[in-house]
Amino acid sequence: MSSPKNEFIARVREVVGPRYVDTRTEELFGYSYDASFGCTKGTPVLPAVIVKPANKEEISKLMQLATAYRIPVVPRGAGSNNSGGTLPVDGCMVLETNRLNRILELDKRNLTVRVQPGVITGQLHRVVEAEGLFYPPDPASLDFCTIGGNLAECAGGPRGVKYGVTRDYVLQLEAVLADGTVIRTGTQTIKGVTGYDLTRLLVGSEGTLAIFTEALLRLIPLPQAHHTILAVYDDIRAAADSVGAIIAGGIVPACLEFMDRVLIKCVEEYAHIGLPTEAEAVLLLDLDGHPAAIADEALAVEKICRGLSVRDLHSAADEEQRQQLWAARRAAFPAIVRLRPNVLTEDVVVPRDKFADMVMQAQGIGEKYQLLVGMAGHAGDGNLHVEILTDENDEVEMARVQQAVLEILQTAVELNGTIAGEHGVGRLKAPYLGLEIKKEVMATMQAIKQALDPLGLLNPGKFI
Ligand SMILES: Cc1cc2nc3c(=O)[nH]c(=O)nc-3n(C[C@H](O)[C@H](O)[C@H](O)COP(=O)(O)OP(=O)(O)OC[C@H]3O[C@@H](n4cnc5c(N)ncnc54)[C@H](O)[C@@H]3O)c2cc1C
Repeated sequence: MSSPKNEFIARVREVVGPRYVDTRTEELFGYSYDASFGCTKGTPVLPAVIVKPANKEEISKLMQLATAYRIPVVPRGAGSNNSGGTLPVDGCMVLETNRLNRILELDKRNLTVRVQPGVITGQLHRVVEAEGLFYPPDPASLDFCTIGGNLAECAGGPRGVKYGVTRDYVLQLEAVLADGTVIRTGTQTIKGVTGYDLTRLLVGSEGTLAIFTEALLRLIPLPQAHHTILAVYDDIRAAADSVGAIIAGGIVPACLEFMDRVLIKCVEEYAHIGLPTEAEAVLLLDLDGHPAAIADEALAVEKICRGLSVRDLHSAADEEQRQQLWAARRAAFPAIVRLRPNVLTEDVVVPRDKFADMVMQAQGIGEKYQLLVGMAGHAGDGNLHVEILTDENDEVEMARVQQAVLEILQTAVELNGTIAGEHGVGRLKAPYLGLEIKKEVMATMQAIKQALDPLGLLNPGKFI
């Protein structure tokens, strides 16, 4: 007998073709988790169907069907988010946008690129850089994450300190609403104030308001030269203080990254590039721009760090060494997840002058609850990733982990920061939203959700 669910799936097959619809149990299991290693305990929740549409017309029809049959929809790119943002709800349709993977137009006169959501971020970098152009947002996952996921999470990365985040590069969006309506927001121009800024509303909406099908992104000229410096510290506080001192010195590096001893050791064991495993912390800086300006800035950074008891300063000798250092930094997460079965990645951001306080307090919280904690961060913009290593089957330890998470997030808010900088809220951070978002603001957000998705079909259980 045909159930509504089977009828729905049959109609989905008619829209995208049987090849792009999967209901095999082993495949559904593959979509029951994402890169948020902290939340896989218990029986996996399975979607009813995985669908891979080819274009906006198909996505629009799929949303009309989902509306008619009241089927929840989880948009998905590469599933690399760290906040449980693509965890399915029972019986939902996972809508993967990876087949929309074309770079449609690179416009050198207007410094823009039009892309589909399934383009891999690193691929976009290579294509625009070959033309002497630059798309700065650079999540460490750039070799596998998609532009659609980056838009939905407002992804950042090391270059945020100087160049901002995904939101700062989006001029226009094409998106499908919950009822299947296709909209185009924003303008092709740098300026544009006609109506509400729906583009900015949709960026960072974590698949809860619309499904992106195209974006017009802003580009800038590729910087001429780079200089990468590794600063090694015996004292974690001195390293964290150097961050504020460098910025206060009027220098805004392209990247200003921090790693503590736990992370240095993990990354070295993983990448073998000669990091100082006995150091308490390192800062990794990238200066970019005109070679003469970089040389001046490098001298100034050296002076500031020496004034704060840096033990060693190394400059990358050539491009190969520079790439090695940055590849090592990008390896921080894969390196640390090998230590214990689960990692909870906290993603707090504080005003830059509070970065040292955040580091010291997070370290103290880890010690208080006897947890293995590693810290790395985009220190230049105040973003600290606190990695709590644990085993979710150890209930006693998990109780301490939960308490530590709460205190870390509370600390960020007390320091006038935020509980989620670039990894999204997803399912993992949703219970903590009240720490930061006031009731009346939450009600405003709920009204927006209600207006755009009255049946609550888009990515339920996340964020809102
Ligand atoms: C090793 C590692 C390093 C990382 N480093 C960084 C980092 O430095 N900076 C950073 O910001 N993040 C980082 N991340 C997190 C993650 O890669 C980013 O959040 C990325 O933007 C997710 O892209 P994705 O394609 O995997 O999206 P997914 O994980 O598949 O989805 C993420 C969210 O986007 C929604 N979504 C996906 N596609 C669409 C679409 N077409 N329309 C509407 N909604 C959509 C989903 O519903 C979900 O809510 C890292 C992750 C890993 C595993």
